[in-house]
Amino acid sequence: MKTYANIVNGRPVLSERTFESRNPATGEVLGLVPHSTAAQVAEAVAAARAAQPAWAARPDAERKALMMKVAEVIKGNAEYLAEWVTKEQGKPLGGVGPDQVPGARFELWGCEVWTQVPASLDLPVDLAFEDDTRRDEVHRKPFGVIGAIAPWNWPLLIAIWQIVPSLRAGNTVVIKPSEYTSIGTLELVRLISEVLPAGVLNTISGPGEVGAALVDNPGVDKIMFTGSGATGAKIAAAAAKNLTPTTMELGGNDAAIMLPDADPKAMAMGLFWGAFLNMGQTCACAKRLYVHESQHDAVVAELKALAEAMPMGDGLAPGTVMGPIQNRMQFDKVNRLVERARADGATIVCGGKPVEGPGNFYPLTLVTDIADGAPLVDEEQFGPVLPIIRYSNVDDAIASANRLDVGLGASVWSTNVDRAREVASRIQAGTVWINQHGMIHPMVPFGGVKGSGWGVEFGVDGLKAVTQPQVISIRK
Ligand code: NAD
Repeated sequence: MKTYANIVNGRPVLSERTFESRNPATGEVLGLVPHSTAAQVAEAVAAARAAQPAWAARPDAERKALMMKVAEVIKGNAEYLAEWVTKEQGKPLGGVGPDQVPGARFELWGCEVWTQVPASLDLPVDLAFEDDTRRDEVHRKPFGVIGAIAPWNWPLLIAIWQIVPSLRAGNTVVIKPSEYTSIGTLELVRLISEVLPAGVLNTISGPGEVGAALVDNPGVDKIMFTGSGATGAKIAAAAAKNLTPTTMELGGNDAAIMLPDADPKAMAMGLFWGAFLNMGQTCACAKRLYVHESQHDAVVAELKALAEAMPMGDGLAPGTVMGPIQNRMQFDKVNRLVERARADGATIVCGGKPVEGPGNFYPLTLVTDIADGAPLVDEEQFGPVLPIIRYSNVDDAIASANRLDVGLGASVWSTNVDRAREVASRIQAGTVWINQHGMIHPMVPFGGVKGSGWGVEFGVDGLKAVTQPQVISIRK
């Protein structure tokens, strides 16, 4: 069985202890991953610290050009890396484009684009103030070493979101992938490291305690974390000890509200993927759908037809549109929430029972006759289940959307965009989409409010988030 190596200071690093990475569609062991020791975490941070001054001192144009080379490496290895995403994470290979499955090839295409965009953006010097007596310029400086901790749902794309803006802005990086999906990230970093100076990008791997050692290291100047709120709270508390700043991209429980004038037939496909992209294992998926009573049955019928038509299976098999749930813990959570809803009297419109056999397969499930307060509505299910809640008054639907302590995304569906915008402005979420859901873009800032975190990624704001302002104040 092959052991995949970490990359520290440009060299492969193994550890005495290893753990297995498994294919969630088959249970097959795919390879072994090093369990980094505390000393290895410290070595990775030291390598990043040593490389950072020279990296930051390079002309900006050189770093931009190197990021463009990184994008070429991603493109050149996209198929190899997409297969790793499918094998480890489960999403089908699929293809790129409006009619095709947003699977692993789509993830790799996203990695390429989310590398090219920060590479082409500029961070201009802002003029804060100028008069006859003084000139005050705001420059942007890198933090130094970024410690990045990633989840398992979009393992390579989220790693790229953390790595590329950080490097582009003159930071160096130590990244820890999720223990469920490490190999793809280690392979991605091995490949892109070939065009980067040694020490600029380093990896460590292992469970939460390895991430905790990274957060505790005083050599880390900023933490970028994407994952659950529970882990985010632990990291924020640990980071406070060294006063290390953090970006927190945490979980959500996005509400989608269909206004009474929505068009169920025309909007069903957008709603469907808004809820079931990556089997619902996406931070900004629609996780509860509020439908006006006049539209309820039509919406349920449209979504049911789509859910039942999607072939589910091993993502490497041609024609697969839906893969497995990535890990057993998540599978059990989905199962528990559906069983509880059933026991409490909800209607399971389709799905609702685990698929027998190897792999974590759970069918696409729609649940109706359910209300706010039910665990399936109030907890982040992060899986292929959508509760559909009937409402009669739009103000009540808005109050429902806002009643939880999270606010990552939300969406409003209507044939009247002005009306939808008015509703959107009353929703507490980092992004409110109108007639689409989860449609992130590399130029558009993305982040949560309330318990969904703080700070943003993407676009110029995302680049600013991995730098700190330095004022140069000149007396005239
Ligand atoms: P998780 O919090 O369990 O794990 C995320 C990472 O944190 C893993 O690498 C894990 O090893 C590490 N970790 C665990 N304990 C740690 C500790 N004490 N110190 C440091 N690191 C530690 O999350 P997950 O289950 O991998 O991901 C799913 C969650 O992530 C969902 O809630 C989802 O909504 C959220 N998510 C948010 C975004 C976003 O952009 N807002 C994107 C994707 C996923």
